[in-house]
Amino acid sequence: MKRVFSTISNFFIFFLLAAFVTTCCILLFISALQGSLGRAFTREEITVAAKITMLNVILLSIGMTVMNHIRRKFTVERPVKRITDATSKMIEGDFSVRIEPIAKFATDDSFNEIIECINKMAEELSGVETLRTDFIANVSHEMKTPLAVMQNYGTLLQVPNLPEEKRIEYAKAITDASRRLADMMTNILKLNRLENQQIYPQIEKYDLGEQLCESLLQYESTWERKNIEIETDIAENVIVSADAELLSLVWNNLFSNAFKFTEDGGKVTLTLTAKGEYATVKISDTGCGMSADIGAHIFEKFYQGDTSHATQGNGLGLALVKRVVDIMQGEIGVESAVGVGTTFTVKIRRTEYGLEEAR
Ligand code: ADP
Repeated sequence: MKRVFSTISNFFIFFLLAAFVTTCCILLFISALQGSLGRAFTREEITVAAKITMLNVILLSIGMTVMNHIRRKFTVERPVKRITDATSKMIEGDFSVRIEPIAKFATDDSFNEIIECINKMAEELSGVETLRTDFIANVSHEMKTPLAVMQNYGTLLQVPNLPEEKRIEYAKAITDASRRLADMMTNILKLNRLENQQIYPQIEKYDLGEQLCESLLQYESTWERKNIEIETDIAENVIVSADAELLSLVWNNLFSNAFKFTEDGGKVTLTLTAKGEYATVKISDTGCGMSADIGAHIFEKFYQGDTSHATQGNGLGLALVKRVVDIMQGEIGVESAVGVGTTFTVKIRRTEYGLEEAR
């Protein structure tokens, strides 16, 4: 019904337009012809000419209406249908749809611009959706392992007359698994709050060298147990304006990985230098290193390249590190070679660098 009404109204628009233009032209033509012939046309002559012209105008209007209808079908209705079909699928949750661009001769660039934007939006949305589903799958998977450990050892603890050392061993396994679960939940919550900008950085000025030393010292018992050599080269008076608590997360995670992935008798090196606007921290180890393929994914949530140490972490550490460094508007990079070792480099903006350079 709407279509019929639109076709009729289109016809009337073309009819009125054609009738108006043709009448004006004919009136001008007749008056010019009468002037040059030197005689006036008779009533009959004018009636015949008016009928023929009226017929022409009607045919012309019908022709224009049909042509306009065909033009609209190809240049407007088809692209609009393509777009609405795709967006309806997106509304139903299918973000894999992409709209084919319209051939250049069939439309102007406007529809293709809209199509390009919708395709980009679908790509972004499918990325977010994958992250969300991956995240849920990963969390569930990571929770299942410690829960299974707790269940198994809990069952074993129920065996009557259990020797004392077995009872202690099983209880320790349960405590370790529950600690792992609690650590993972703490990391997920921290990451979630960091990603949703619910943590507002408490910026303060402090000495970065001191903070790095404090963080490194927490691992004293580990490096003594594993007989790991420590080398430090820390520039003095490197003052940064940053959130000390958040940055300590970064150093703790990097040191913990360095000690975790370094074999007994290896070496961990810490250097702090300051040049221009940035303070540069390098944490190197002579551990197992990682391939370029692994290196490309280490900042992703739940990614664990080295599964032999999987029980000592949950793949969230470096995702947290990256998020904090981004919030601090710093930079982080990694260089690594399998069997040689790994170096993480973090750059943090420092304060008072002008003063220091002038000294
Ligand atoms: P996890 O806590 O499980 O170690 P991370 O996010 O801290 O998770 O690290 C992700 C992955 O990055 C690790 O599984 C490991 O493959 C790699 N990695 C991180 N630091 C090092 C390092 N110093 N040496 C070798 N590989 C590393």
